Amino acid sequence: MKITHIETIPVRVPIRPELAIRARAGTHSVSPFLLVRVHTDEQIYGLGEVSCTPRWSGEDQFTAAHFIRTILEPALTGENPRDIERLTARMRGAVAGNPFTRAALEMALWDILGKSAGLPVYRLLGGPVRDAVPIKWSISGAEPARAAEIARWAVQQGFTTMKVKVGIDPAQDIARVCAVREAIGSDVRLGIDANGAWPPRTAVRMIRRLTEFGIYFAEQPVPPGDVAALADVRRQVAVPILADESVYSPEDALALARAHAADAFSIYTGKAAGIGPARKIAAIAESAILGATIGSNLELGIGTAAMIHLGLSTAGITPDDYPCDIIGPFYYADEILTHPLRLAGGQALPPEGPGLGVELDDEKVREYRVSLTP
Ligand SMILES: [Mg+2]
Repeated sequence: MKITHIETIPVRVPIRPELAIRARAGTHSVSPFLLVRVHTDEQIYGLGEVSCTPRWSGEDQFTAAHFIRTILEPALTGENPRDIERLTARMRGAVAGNPFTRAALEMALWDILGKSAGLPVYRLLGGPVRDAVPIKWSISGAEPARAAEIARWAVQQGFTTMKVKVGIDPAQDIARVCAVREAIGSDVRLGIDANGAWPPRTAVRMIRRLTEFGIYFAEQPVPPGDVAALADVRRQVAVPILADESVYSPEDALALARAHAADAFSIYTGKAAGIGPARKIAAIAESAILGATIGSNLELGIGTAAMIHLGLSTAGITPDDYPCDIIGPFYYADEILTHPLRLAGGQALPPEGPGLGVELDDEKVREYRVSLTP
């Protein structure tokens, strides 16, 4: 089997305005993503998704389409798509950075392998270590009453764990966490995510203060980059520290583990540049006796399916302790898959069918397709 060409499909699928995520860096109200189809000479194609937001990795539809057309498509064309480990290394060598772009092509290779073998990706990765992946809700940095309303909605959806965005304004952060805790009662587990907003001293003070509302983890309290600062904060607070913006690659994970800077990693297929590299990070967490969860960039259906296969098959992911943010599809006003993924009752269920187990609804894709011609 040989890769013949790569098709890119830029889309803008609107986010339900009432769920737009407000966090420190701004509001995520539309997703300028790029879908990909990796075509082969055997009537099988693989689907991928560049879940790109410029503020995360510096990628958008234009950069992703550009690097695929000029570098990654030429690097993959003519190659056997089932040589995933080798082609992942080749893509890493061809383009520095741009992990979400490379992840889209890597997940498409897994989709092709699964379709050619007649097996779901989680089976190719060694088989399921759990029947479903526990997931948690993420509450935007909205004003407190609105955050409480979202939290009550999430409880009705079956979520038993959630996190609240903080790091916007100290007084409002406290009021928001307090309002959410009052809304959900004491049985729902609650974490916070500061998206790297706090200087170290503020982080220690805020986490100690928020401990009073029964928070059970604090995600990325300080900016990424200074591993020692994250370790300092971790030593001074009682709740577990999750690293998110601090961990893109296996090398990042190793540095954090060595410095005892985190209790768990938030792993994305996008940040890691694919399912395979994401599993290497999970293996580091497992070896260092740390936890790991799967974080979200509000993926559409293809990206979400990749996360579910990762979560189903990876022992180093510990979603019982830290349920995964496999919640992208909840945010969108419309569905672009022919069959929606099964996300309900606080868990993600295995997609049916070989490969990633998802197919695009061509009519919907046409509706949300945009032109990249300026
Ligand atoms: Mg986060």
